[in-house]
Amino acid sequence: MPGNEEVVLLRITVDVGRCQGYGNCVMADADHFDLDDDGLVVVLRDDVSAGEQADAAEAARSCPAEAIRLVDDDG
Ligand code: SF4
Repeated sequence: MPGNEEVVLLRITVDVGRCQGYGNCVMADADHFDLDDDGLVVVLRDDVSAGEQADAAEAARSCPAEAIRLVDDDG
């Protein structure tokens, strides 16, 4: 039986147009976020499992540009 960590709870959406390249999201959650060659955010993987929720939420909270949103997988 799979553990709860395997269940996708949230999806990450990013408004790259708002990104200022501070990199706070990468510091908070390097599993999901990176910066491209222009210094703007790249979402490495948009699914957030239960075990990853805290780091992803911290990334969204720490973004000064409010560019990151976490949305329910079921809409
Ligand atoms: S924290 Fe926000 S502004 Fe900074 S790189 Fe990440 S998405 Fe862009």
